[in-house]
Amino acid sequence: MNVCIVPEEEIDKELLNYLEEKLSEIFGKARIKTFFQIPEYSFDIYRRQFNAELAVKSLPFPDGRNCGVVLGITEKDLFADELNFVFGIAEPFSGRAIISIARLKNSFYNLPEDKELFKLRTLKEAVHEIGHLLGLPHCPNRQCVMSFSNSIIDVDRKSYLFCPKCQNVVNSAI
Ligand SMILES: [Zn+2]
Ligand SMILES: [Zn+2]
Repeated sequence: MNVCIVPEEEIDKELLNYLEEKLSEIFGKARIKTFFQIPEYSFDIYRRQFNAELAVKSLPFPDGRNCGVVLGITEKDLFADELNFVFGIAEPFSGRAIISIARLKNSFYNLPEDKELFKLRTLKEAVHEIGHLLGLPHCPNRQCVMSFSNSIIDVDRKSYLFCPKCQNVVNSAI
């Protein structure tokens, strides 16, 4: 399957190269296709955050139907409905998802920077949202990448891999 990555232009190139490489290993093919800008209208002035649902709907479809899925990447902090923030959101019917790296950096938690950890966290959230696009729900296996992450501790606890059960679903979907 072809994962079309659509980041904001400011996103670190080393991170993007890493995602291309690792997502290609997992899903077959992953390439940066074009850049996007999160729309101004998705900013909520009261919450000082961006509305994830509006942001995901603003993602372009580069390459038309040649994209199996579209993955947006933003540095902006996202929220959705009743949740005070989200690491990402998926819109399975359109094949688009977006992840936010705002809360994946150690600096957000006043901890010293750790680039490898940051890259790994971003990979986990990317794989998780793509999993939703392939039809997977949240998984009760806490090591599985499809387990729900409500905090950075949850992100660090899980691996970037699917459990065997979820991997079976992915294999039949890609
Ligand atoms: Zn999820
Ligand atoms: Zn699983």
